[in-house]
Amino acid sequence: MSPPPAALPDAGCAVEPVRTTVCVVGGGPAGAMLGLLLARAGIETVILERHHDFHRDFRGDTVHPATLQLLDELDLIDRFHALPHQKVTTIGVVQDGRRTDIADFTRLRVAYPYMAFVPQWDFLDLITAEGRRHPAHRLLMGTAAHGVLRSADGRVRGVRARGRAGDLEVHCTLVVAADGRHSTLREEVGARPRLLGRSLDVAFFRISRRPTDPDEGICVRVGPGRIFGATDRGHYWQMSYETTRGGLDAVRRAGLDAFRADLAALVPFLADRVHELRSLDELSVLEARIDRLDRWHRPGLLFIGDAAHAMSPVAGFGVNLAVQDAVATANALTAPLLHAQRTGARFDDALLAAVRRRRLLATVLSQGLQRGTQRFGIDTTVKKGRQPPAPRLFARCRPAQLLMSRIIGLGFRPEHVRTAPPRPPRPRGSHPEKGRA
Ligand SMILES: Cc1cc2nc3c(=O)[nH]c(=O)nc-3n(C[C@H](O)[C@H](O)[C@H](O)COP(=O)(O)OP(=O)(O)OC[C@H]3O[C@@H](n4cnc5c(N)ncnc54)[C@H](O)[C@@H]3O)c2cc1C
Repeated sequence: MSPPPAALPDAGCAVEPVRTTVCVVGGGPAGAMLGLLLARAGIETVILERHHDFHRDFRGDTVHPATLQLLDELDLIDRFHALPHQKVTTIGVVQDGRRTDIADFTRLRVAYPYMAFVPQWDFLDLITAEGRRHPAHRLLMGTAAHGVLRSADGRVRGVRARGRAGDLEVHCTLVVAADGRHSTLREEVGARPRLLGRSLDVAFFRISRRPTDPDEGICVRVGPGRIFGATDRGHYWQMSYETTRGGLDAVRRAGLDAFRADLAALVPFLADRVHELRSLDELSVLEARIDRLDRWHRPGLLFIGDAAHAMSPVAGFGVNLAVQDAVATANALTAPLLHAQRTGARFDDALLAAVRRRRLLATVLSQGLQRGTQRFGIDTTVKKGRQPPAPRLFARCRPAQLLMSRIIGLGFRPEHVRTAPPRPPRPRGSHPEKGRA
């Protein structure tokens, strides 16, 4: 894994209000991608990111075929492939010692038939570094938005934030809240998401990988009452333990040795190194929730990514859905924002509804799949101690595997970058990484 990038140099703070066309709050996958797309189209964009760098572990390091395609459309694919990464072509489930591939991306007729694992800070660094090549792009690291500014008619016209050098205001035509599932701006304007699922607890940890270990890609191992996920990250296994809400309390009560024994039983090739987990305190426990706003905008304010619809880790949809939201937003709003920027004309807030209209179906279906997996897969295993039936179905039915490969790899409504003149397409198969897993 490459080291985290140093804090970015253009962090700062201003006493005078910062004036811009768009203020994006949050420099995660949704915000970073939107910032790049808008700035590259010439829209003055300020991105506020409350952290000083992008270094956070277990944040979702999956880049799916649909996102790889977008990176290609942005001419970033070569630089992406130069980052340290692993390519994974299959997602498997092991039950009763037998592996079933529920997804096989090599079956997709796409340019990049694999899922790439990249530390998220490398991915975000790539996107924001590309953004900085455009004069309209400004990224303020270490700057947290804590409130909105409103005009007399109640329309949002900017944000209040705190940066390294103190408080600042950003005045703008449009605020985009891409500040994640605990969105401050959502809270600030009283937008309450509908809770759709909060029954999954996930704990992450690492175990070293040896060259003699099986070539597993991503594999979920299911046993009576237990689920472990193992993802090949080159020199280590990124392990996850999935359980229902509160299940980790039971793990803590049973103790470290019991947890190690479960791990050794379900992932036998790791039995000789379960001691690498020295304490249950090393488990990185993350709250997973699925929720969704009924309305994704207010006058002057748009929510995208997890701020509009929080995703659970199931199927690794979240990062890619967030990126797709950003692309859809840029596709829908670039022309009117440019017009407003150039002429000073009032931006028509009714246009903001187009983003939800475009992305709602894909979001609902993705969240539905996550909820179904939770209910019929995870709950069946953990609460009822039974084996989930779905993996056996995939073993018998190859079309089901193809369908799942499409859904996970491409999502329900893949977006394409439509905001800058398209460059001439490369002849199919001419890129050295294309079609190669
Ligand atoms: C345990 C767990 C594991 C997951 N694993 C995966 C996975 O493997 N693959 C996958 O695709 N998805 C995964 N997800 C889902 C994924 O993390 C999210 O769906 C995705 O990160 C959403 O991107 P985003 O840009 O909308 O929000 P985020 O990634 O949450 O980014 C929001 C950004 O806003 C910043 N921010 C927050 N508040 C403010 C503020 N007030 N001012 C300024 N900045 C602010 C944050 O620092 C952050 O950088 C996982 C989720 C969970 C809970």
